[in-house]
Amino acid sequence: MFTANQNFSKLPESYLFSEVGRRIKEYKKTHPGDDVIRMDIGDVSLPLPACVVKAMKHAAEEMGKSASFHGYGPEQGYLFLRELIVENDYKNRGISSIDADDVFISDGAKSDLANLGDLFGVNIRPAVVTPAYPVYIDSNVLSGRGGTMSDGRWSGITYLPANSASDFTPALPAPGTRADVIYLCYPNNPTGAVLTKEQLTEWVGYAKQNGSLIIYDSAYEAYISSPDIPRSIYEIEEAEEVAIEVRSFSKTAGFTGVRCGYTVVPKSLKLTFVDGTLANLNKMWLRRQTTKFNGVGYIVQKAAASLYSEEGRKAIAESVGYYMRNAKKLRSTLLETGAEVFGGTDAPYVWFRPLERGDSWTLFDHLLEQHRISSTPGVGFGREGEGWLRLTGFNTRELTDEACSRLINND
Ligand code: PLP
Repeated sequence: MFTANQNFSKLPESYLFSEVGRRIKEYKKTHPGDDVIRMDIGDVSLPLPACVVKAMKHAAEEMGKSASFHGYGPEQGYLFLRELIVENDYKNRGISSIDADDVFISDGAKSDLANLGDLFGVNIRPAVVTPAYPVYIDSNVLSGRGGTMSDGRWSGITYLPANSASDFTPALPAPGTRADVIYLCYPNNPTGAVLTKEQLTEWVGYAKQNGSLIIYDSAYEAYISSPDIPRSIYEIEEAEEVAIEVRSFSKTAGFTGVRCGYTVVPKSLKLTFVDGTLANLNKMWLRRQTTKFNGVGYIVQKAAASLYSEEGRKAIAESVGYYMRNAKKLRSTLLETGAEVFGGTDAPYVWFRPLERGDSWTLFDHLLEQHRISSTPGVGFGREGEGWLRLTGFNTRELTDEACSRLINND
């Protein structure tokens, strides 16, 4: 007899973005002449770089000829792309611990972040920093690790709260707290927080000491410009023994609609199962991918490879610069209004609460009604986000400038 995965019924409706959309629609109905500036958007506004379009066209031509046609590719991704990643994102940045067999090309960070749970038993205890990108918690709940929900907390999950007193970086789990798989995301969505080398070293040390695995979501690493902030967890000594790193081309090269990223599962990971045997997560992930995934399209992987050309690197630098200019302008504008502001320095997200405090949805409504600006209520990222709002640097320069002028002129 068919029974459903009961965990689906435990999961609350994905309410945040639909409610944001509903409130904007409602506002527009009652204020038909008003233009609302979408500063809540998590999508990019710049089109694909020219070198990517050229690479895609060329690969499409190849696919149209029998001599150069590509059918199923390797599930792990084409070696040409994995080698470029190792060379440019790791070796050239002084990281020699990662090689092409450790890299798995994906259709973006989100699916891998959710699917990595396939590697773990149902009884492991995930630990998640809050506020957080919702995928870490929701995917674990769907896999049966949530337990029961009470007061915004799942009993099966360890929460690592981050707040303004500590610049939205969390403390290590208290002694005696179980944290088998720890999700860290830096630069952080939604708070824009980053970890220094010293802080990240502490996390790696904790994982080593406690036999924990870190899943390091560095989807926004390209936005880091401060020299003392690590872009990869593998900049930390021996991190390859305790960490998986997940990355994306989405926000650096306009790949949100193209879909490509990669996950590093090092062969040198040293984690033991409860029976004392060494877990070969690299081999397990390969098995998982060959069973459930047939790889990313050739055209898409060629497009991603073009980003490692001189033209590609320049295009990434330009788009990161474009969005960071927006984020910095939002940051300085909000500071001018007297708001308490985080992020917008090494991240495209600005996280703030205005002088006049309130709960996130009241603040959202106020910003919409007073300035015709939409935001993302912080409470949607977990209970620590209550009273905060997130704005992004991903809108166009012109609309960001207009939003800033509305904020300053109280328009
Ligand atoms: N990780 C974080 C922190 C994100 O904010 C996002 C997207 O917004 C992703 C991962 C997913 O990115 P992708 O488009 O590669 O699936």
